[in-house]
Amino acid sequence: MQQFFSAGFMKKTLLISLFLKGFLFAQAFAYEVDFIGDKTQGGLVIGKVTPGIKVIYKDKSIRISDRGYFLLAFGRDEPSLVSYSLEFPDGTRESKILAIKKRQYKEESITGLASNKVEPSQAELDRIMREQKYFDNARLIDDPREDFLQPFIWPVKGRISGVYGSRRILNGKPKRPHYGLDIAAPDGTPIQAPADGIVTINQPDLFYTGVTVMLDHGHGLSTLYIHMSKSNVELGQKVKQGDVIGAVGKTGRATGPHLHWGMSLFGTRLDPRLMLPD
Ligand SMILES: [Zn+2]
Repeated sequence: MQQFFSAGFMKKTLLISLFLKGFLFAQAFAYEVDFIGDKTQGGLVIGKVTPGIKVIYKDKSIRISDRGYFLLAFGRDEPSLVSYSLEFPDGTRESKILAIKKRQYKEESITGLASNKVEPSQAELDRIMREQKYFDNARLIDDPREDFLQPFIWPVKGRISGVYGSRRILNGKPKRPHYGLDIAAPDGTPIQAPADGIVTINQPDLFYTGVTVMLDHGHGLSTLYIHMSKSNVELGQKVKQGDVIGAVGKTGRATGPHLHWGMSLFGTRLDPRLMLPD
């Protein structure tokens, strides 16, 4: 039986066809993206690309600032490999993989909570559903400001009484994980804005969270301050890093005075501890 094409000819043909598809070009000139931040579950990274390049992550073309900055977030249970792609001004795309560090989460058991705060009545469930909209709506905001580039400061100093991601057993009942950092401090301790931002929630009395403030830091990054004894801000107000936004309390579902500090990129809950210096 006669062979029509030699193995060498076949290989050369394959290489030429790959080259024409741009594959070898992409391999030879892979674009490097710079990141700062923790590529870990609950982490946030700031990436930088040459302006004009688009970034697609989880099927969404994400906001890139005029200077080329963008944010990627990894959830509490993010898989160990995530992919994103770059789209260049000529329309070609390049796919990228990031390795995400896995974390171990603790189990935290809390007792002594008012029973309705663990098993709410139907009327209270309706109220919780209504109040959830404040959070859902605020977490849709995609503002072009770059406040997230500022190195964050601690909103309040104190003993860490609860960490991000832990599995929670409340009054003996398994509940959803703890999406925040709890910092215990005396009632009335001032809480400072950890970075510049705009107030997107200012509520005096929510069922679970009591006196509640949310700040927006641009590109979908928000921080949340709950259980406060009071708020010092107004909805829509611009705050600067270090401004006092409220005071520590134990309003809503809390057993003692502390700040529950949350952080999200849109709906992805993040660990605020990772944004702070040691
Ligand atoms: Zn908490």
